[in-house]
Amino acid sequence: MTLPTPGQSFAWRTVANRPALVCGPLEPFATHLFTTSLWRLGSRSADPDDDGWCDVAQALEIEPARLVRARQVHGSTVMVGVAAGRHGERPEADLVLVREPAAAAAVQVADCVPMLVVDRLTGAVAAVHAGWRGMVARVPQVAVAALARTFGSQPADLLIALGPSIGACCYEVGAEVRGRFAAAGFSDDQLARWFRPHPADVAHNPTWPRVLAQPRRAEHWFFDGWAVVREQIADAGVPDGQVFASGLCTASHPDCFCSYRRDGSPSGRLVGAIRSRTVL
Ligand SMILES: [Zn+2]
Repeated sequence: MTLPTPGQSFAWRTVANRPALVCGPLEPFATHLFTTSLWRLGSRSADPDDDGWCDVAQALEIEPARLVRARQVHGSTVMVGVAAGRHGERPEADLVLVREPAAAAAVQVADCVPMLVVDRLTGAVAAVHAGWRGMVARVPQVAVAALARTFGSQPADLLIALGPSIGACCYEVGAEVRGRFAAAGFSDDQLARWFRPHPADVAHNPTWPRVLAQPRRAEHWFFDGWAVVREQIADAGVPDGQVFASGLCTASHPDCFCSYRRDGSPSGRLVGAIRSRTVL
């Protein structure tokens, strides 16, 4: 299998015989990875609560019980993790914050944007699940604010990696989605940037053939969630040069990424997970 070429700050690594993406600028500060469909959790038949999470914990060199994750509900609630225990209650949340290097934060996605954050000064980390509903709720800004409130993180100290997720090459949405952004107060200029009339033409992310084959529909657009997330991160005060995008679309690459839009339910799940290297 040929792995697609990620953005220049990203590299493929083989971890326990499976490919994972890592982001170079984050590596000195945090052990982290974005998994692929070749991991056990990426299988279409995987039970999301099964032992596939052990593979992720192993890759981060951490006990499975110290992999902190929430029950994701497409909201903007923050969970501040202590090693909660793998079989313990998982609260509803879409942002997981952790500071202790003995624990790691993780989210699962299948088209939504997985966002990994590290504070290079304090060592605090966050794993964030940002789908379009989360973007309406300004989840990237919520993440930066939560890190400031909880751990005293300054936006200028944050490094942020955006993992594989569905791109404007493939992600057609209808009036409901655009309307929710408009109702949340985003400007017409922002909507014009984020909702495109045609699929984005990106050489390394071929548009899903089924999307290309169907005629363009009225009141439908191609949603650029990557642009939304980047703008919201910038609005939160994080310098643009500290935000790194893998630039890979989950729907464009059926050999290595899970896509709910492409595969329906059950699709497998991709994981973004991060553990601080900083011992305070
Ligand atoms: Zn695509």
